[in-house]
Amino acid sequence: VFQLSVPLNFLGSVYRELRQSLLDMETLFNLQKVNISITEPVNTKPLILTKGGEIRFENVTFGYHQDRPILKNLSFTIPAGKKIAVVGPSGCGKSTILRLLFRSYDAQAGRIFIDDQDITQVSLESLRKAIGVVPQDTPLFNDSIEHNIRYGDLNASPEKVRAAAQRAQIHEIISSFPEGYNTMVGERGMMISGGEKQRLAVSRLILKDPPLLFFDEATSALDTHTEQALMRNINGILKDKARTSVFVAHRLRTIYDSDKIIVLKEGQVAEDGTHRELIDTGGVYSELWSAQETLFNDDGEREIDVDRE
Ligand code: ATP
Repeated sequence: VFQLSVPLNFLGSVYRELRQSLLDMETLFNLQKVNISITEPVNTKPLILTKGGEIRFENVTFGYHQDRPILKNLSFTIPAGKKIAVVGPSGCGKSTILRLLFRSYDAQAGRIFIDDQDITQVSLESLRKAIGVVPQDTPLFNDSIEHNIRYGDLNASPEKVRAAAQRAQIHEIISSFPEGYNTMVGERGMMISGGEKQRLAVSRLILKDPPLLFFDEATSALDTHTEQALMRNINGILKDKARTSVFVAHRLRTIYDSDKIIVLKEGQVAEDGTHRELIDTGGVYSELWSAQETLFNDDGEREIDVDRE
């Protein structure tokens, strides 16, 4: 028995590693869309979170094409353990900020630091291990729901998978499927809805439990009630462990309680502050807020799809 179990265990861990790297590749593919080679200096050290995940952009300039800069000399700091939102008009470069942090691309000028370590100088593996992303379009495998959630932590017990699903507001729906957690999601998740996909991605993130969490329009496909319930749970998780989190969102209702809101315009910070501060300033954010507020009725239900305006 002993002789047999050793190679089997070994194979098991190889299999798990393979699955994990497939997942990372999928995430990467999803985030980057085109292939740009990211280089790692020799003998890199791992990223060590000495401050708990402070993010600093220092004069960062980046464009997908040299002649069309998206981020222009951009500088800002995200304090460790805080909830931050990045808002601004469509196409202004919000998701690009997350892609640079994940090193799907490197900046053409300027530097990005996490806890004072230049992210191009630490090992890619340690950087990506520290980050969890709920991207705009979640990569799912043509496998069961159970397995799709478990990609967040391949050693998680069935109970942990269910607890994560519960916090992501998806457990009850999964339980109502005839096959429950064994339901297959189909090719690239075609058998489940957009909102279910988003919640599976959040379940996965909860299982992974990384120190840095990025949400890119992570609740955009949910109805207001489900979105609010999910945001309450996410906020609870963030508070429990003081995780650094960055939310990219169109619906200001999901992020108005952030510790800091960064308003991006034409590749630069137009203004930043708390919701209260930005409303008092009466600038871009306050205009966006009043435009969106009129789209809600008294019960907080959305009357018009503000994301599609
Ligand atoms: P949205 O709110 O619509 O999601 P965003 O602010 O997140 O937008 P980004 O996705 O960061 O915007 O994109 C910024 C700009 O870069 C856009 O004009 C977009 O068309 C362009 N862009 C994004 N990805 C690529 C890419 N892979 N190749 C070339 N251009 C890209």
